[in-house]
Amino acid sequence: MILKLKNSRITDWRGYKGRPFLISGPCSAETEEQVMETARQLAKIKEVSLFRAGIWKPRTRPNSFEGVGVEGLRWLRRVKEETGLLVGTEVANERHVYEALKYGIDMLWIGARTSVNPFTVQEISDALKGVDVMVLVKNPINPDIELWIGAIERVAKAGITRIGAIHRGFSSYEKTLYRNQPNWQLPIELRRRIPELPIICDPSHISGSRQFLHEISQKALDLNFDGLMLESHIDPDKALSDSSQQLTPNDLKELLSRLILRNPNPSDPKLLDVLGELRQQIDIYDDYLLDLMEKRMKVSETIGHYKKENNITILQSIRWDEIIKKAISKGQAKGLSAELIKTIFTAIHQESINLQMKIMNNGAKDQDYKK
Ligand code: PEP
Ligand code: MN
Repeated sequence: MILKLKNSRITDWRGYKGRPFLISGPCSAETEEQVMETARQLAKIKEVSLFRAGIWKPRTRPNSFEGVGVEGLRWLRRVKEETGLLVGTEVANERHVYEALKYGIDMLWIGARTSVNPFTVQEISDALKGVDVMVLVKNPINPDIELWIGAIERVAKAGITRIGAIHRGFSSYEKTLYRNQPNWQLPIELRRRIPELPIICDPSHISGSRQFLHEISQKALDLNFDGLMLESHIDPDKALSDSSQQLTPNDLKELLSRLILRNPNPSDPKLLDVLGELRQQIDIYDDYLLDLMEKRMKVSETIGHYKKENNITILQSIRWDEIIKKAISKGQAKGLSAELIKTIFTAIHQESINLQMKIMNNGAKDQDYKK
């Protein structure tokens, strides 16, 4: 399905205050005072366009704070009336959609534990038919781009035109630096697949702590994301959910002041000339890489035939370990990261194995080799 998004440019969205589209507010609405005071302070920050607060909180484990429910929607409506900020909350079923719409909520987001489930996303999308509201779809907790796109398509099919994606990172079993793995290649691939879809980064849920919020936000801006969602609470240490990743409005302001906005579409001819020339060089090297890979695969094919004739197994892991080790140390001497070398060589090796498997199990191509 080709997605047709009207008003897809975030700059056409109501409430847009300049790049990036900034969403901020507490993880959860806890009390009317906490919501109102956070909102008053955030409204003073000129970049903030939309106030977020979770009313229904999908928690991984029971017995955590699960949100204040419908009562919080009245607080959000008050935020909108008293500060002029747009307001948004998470919806996880049809009833949430109806309740939120009753209170004039401007933006509904589908959370990461909901976007994994096509039935629920469909139920939410059906409840959205004929409604003009902004809808943001968080990536599913597992790194599955088709599932993410599927959820976006369901919302688009309901007739919603202001749709965006939120990149909030992906769960993993291993304990890592961040709470959720950013897997930047997924939002980049999403951009390639649906270029007109705005993508907002949620550094709070990727980071899981205040420590990495700035570097993740900067990275998202450098990748030309359209906006940021950063959680903010007047007293983060007392927050009932996601306490360690929330910032006070003052700290948010300070973080924003340190972000650098780079130009996504330079128009100065001098800049374009230099860039154009450098990009030509990149194109030339990319062609070299393709030629080299072609040549390497040809050798691998010959080896495949040789192994078949002499009844040798395809995989000889000692040889492979040697190749990788050598490549990593040579690459590092050239300033290339071990990660890059490992990824590229593993992919090339896998392709060689696939090719040789085909040769082993299919006699037809032997003639080609003998020619
Ligand atoms: C949230 O935004 O507070 C939230 C629950 O996010 P996620 O669905 O990304 O976990
Ligand atoms: Mn949260």
